[in-house]
Amino acid sequence: MPRTPFKRLSLRAITLSTVAFTGIAVTAGVAWAAFTDNMYPTQYSNGHCTDESGPNGWISCLTDNSTVTYYMDSGGTNQLEPEDRTVVINVMNSIYGPTDLSVSLDTSPTFSGSAETDIVYEESGIGVPDTASGATFCNDAVNELRCDQQYIRILGGGHYVKGLVCHETGHAVGLLHGNRSDPLVSNTDERLGCMETPTSDGEVLQDNNIDNINGTY
Ligand SMILES: [Zn+2]
Repeated sequence: MPRTPFKRLSLRAITLSTVAFTGIAVTAGVAWAAFTDNMYPTQYSNGHCTDESGPNGWISCLTDNSTVTYYMDSGGTNQLEPEDRTVVINVMNSIYGPTDLSVSLDTSPTFSGSAETDIVYEESGIGVPDTASGATFCNDAVNELRCDQQYIRILGGGHYVKGLVCHETGHAVGLLHGNRSDPLVSNTDERLGCMETPTSDGEVLQDNNIDNINGTY
């Protein structure tokens, strides 16, 4: 006889915890498979999104929204050769296109105002560290999180390859190296895909980067 109320209480507790669990499961939505958070900002990516006149070594901005327009310099000393342009277009269509980002080539780029072309590719070594073949920097910060226009500089002489274009484009949408990820991982962890550094020619995004992109945009 004293057991009955006890049993009821117990059943009710189980029911409540089931409801709570279901609520959490629904909120979480798509399964999160990423092994590390390598999307700016993390506790290791100190520095904040600001206007830069050239590469400063800090990767510190998201792009301003999920619609990513890009332009490739087509005149003067920083222009991309046809083969470089083909690599960029292929990376954007086949590697970034399937993510939640909406990517498109902008043949009439905008360099001022509040809706600038998001990524500008140049063939240039200006400001690129001696130890690197490419660099990315924000030219027009919206706030401490987001940037309206990012520049990617990649050296000439055959450096415009899939892996490096994927890598620098990753920085332009906020992806970080392993040593800025949370939890920290090796810069050469294979699961970082093209965000490994140094970057192999054939690398693509892989699951961790895709999960971080789709969880952000
Ligand atoms: Zn990098």
